[in-house]
Amino acid sequence: SEKIELIRNHVQSFPDFPKPGVLFKDIFSVLREPKVFSVLCDILCKHVKSLPSKIEYVTALDSRGFLFGPIIALDQQVPFVPIRKKGKLPGDICSASYKLEYGEDTLEIQANSIPKGANVLVVDDLLATGGSLSAACSLIESIGAKTVECLIVMELTSLKGREKLKAPVHSLLKY
Ligand code: 5GP
Repeated sequence: SEKIELIRNHVQSFPDFPKPGVLFKDIFSVLREPKVFSVLCDILCKHVKSLPSKIEYVTALDSRGFLFGPIIALDQQVPFVPIRKKGKLPGDICSASYKLEYGEDTLEIQANSIPKGANVLVVDDLLATGGSLSAACSLIESIGAKTVECLIVMELTSLKGREKLKAPVHSLLKY
């Protein structure tokens, strides 16, 4: 649609960032334009309202997922719960590791932040290989909750990250 194209036109691409061969999609160029940022938030919130199952908790991934997750949670009037990189969250935590190109990384969530059986939405800015979102979904599963949907702004379709995820995936911009 027109609104999606408006957002797409405001995503800046940076070749060879953060390393050679990577074409980095920068969502912050959208946030620099209040009208475009507002259109984006509006589309995300409307989409969540249209889901058949009621979202009870919104989670998002460290760190650019945090730009959108809390906005969606506030709009839905449900709790927001962060999923962060290792060592950032205080108190009792649950963790899940995932493979990177070289080595691995760990995501964490605060224990008891989401009750068993809750319907959870997982938000991030971009889906590439799906490694981070699938680790996030494992975390949610391990605490006994249910990922109703993974909602992302940008999807790099050629990397087939969607195939790694059991939960339904919805993306606004496909590249
Ligand atoms: P994946 O785990 O799916 O391979 O990578 C997705 C994660 O890496 C997301 O958390 C996302 O923020 C980050 N990421 C990877 N490539 C890009 C990119 O081109 N632009 C942005 N904004 N984030 C990226």
